[in-house]
Amino acid sequence: MDDRVIAPQQFGDDSESERTLRPKRLADFVGQKTLKENLGISIQAAVKRGEPVDHCLFAGPPGLGKTTLAGIIASEMGSRLQVTSGPVLAKPSDLAGLLTGLNEGDVLFIDEIHRVPPVVEEYLYPAMEDFRLDIVLEGGPSSRCINLPLKRFTLVGATTRSGMLTSPLRDRFGLTFRLDPYSAEELADIVRRSARILDVEIDPDAALVLAERSRGTPRIANRVLRRCRDVADVRGKGAIDLETAERTLKMLGIDENGLDEMDRRILDCIVTKFDGGPVGLGTIGSALGEEPDTIEEVYEPYLVQRGYVNRTPRGRVATRSAFALLGVPYSSPGSRDPGLQEDLFG
Ligand code: ADP
Repeated sequence: MDDRVIAPQQFGDDSESERTLRPKRLADFVGQKTLKENLGISIQAAVKRGEPVDHCLFAGPPGLGKTTLAGIIASEMGSRLQVTSGPVLAKPSDLAGLLTGLNEGDVLFIDEIHRVPPVVEEYLYPAMEDFRLDIVLEGGPSSRCINLPLKRFTLVGATTRSGMLTSPLRDRFGLTFRLDPYSAEELADIVRRSARILDVEIDPDAALVLAERSRGTPRIANRVLRRCRDVADVRGKGAIDLETAERTLKMLGIDENGLDEMDRRILDCIVTKFDGGPVGLGTIGSALGEEPDTIEEVYEPYLVQRGYVNRTPRGRVATRSAFALLGVPYSSPGSRDPGLQEDLFG
């Protein structure tokens, strides 16, 4: 069988299967213990009072379960879920159409809420605070404002860039949660649960190896699991064993540290092209032909979490572990840039 490396963007469109793997109840949502406890209390309290749950904001890297949680809130409340995203809400009328179509208790999920244009965001404030839509009828000096009452709903916002949210918007969320990458044990639980749903057997050591190399992200763990299932099917083996798991990871270009091709290119760029940094994200982006936003949202959180990269006011710096990983002798950033020494060590 051909063991070519498949770039992550060629993993295939698994959106349909992703939906089937999404937990519907809070009890089935693995990990994020504190978030689960707090959200669980808010949901129970809201059910008891017969009111919608407070508006919720979920922040964190892609694939950690923000959309899943919006769905869970709706199903726990027995209400409908409406899904949209910041860039889709281009004009106030796009938002108005959605808001006026909501029933009492519905959950409106806005993905990438930091990308809602400012003119649209203005309309969200009274909608969130007073369940009211303020429509301005333009007529020059005689322009009038009409207040349209809305049904009480729950807005669930998701963002990968909580720092880009304006404070008036952030302040209108009663509940804000940050999602962190999952531990290997939690991801192994998710892999086993998904394998049960996909009706494929997986050996415990294979589940753990997939979990360890999925950068703390359930979406990646599920994708790798599905590719493992393909490999197991083609090789005529029923269950996913350790060998199948290792082979699939290799095909996907994921190494024993859980880093993929792009991660290694980023580290190599900082270490060899820019002497370990400090180097700005924009510069790294142009050197690699990748959007700086994508590097920051998709790749960097894991590289920082694993201690390969530090973020400093002067740019990104490769750590000793990154040099070691690439087999390059370490040179401290402070020795090259005295100003950085101050930023780092005060
Ligand atoms: P996000 O909205 O943060 O990008 P999603 O909610 O779409 O992430 O999650 C991606 C996939 O990962 C979902 O299809 C779901 O199957 C799985 N998933 C995410 N978090 C969990 C979790 N805590 N437990 C089980 N599965 C999860």
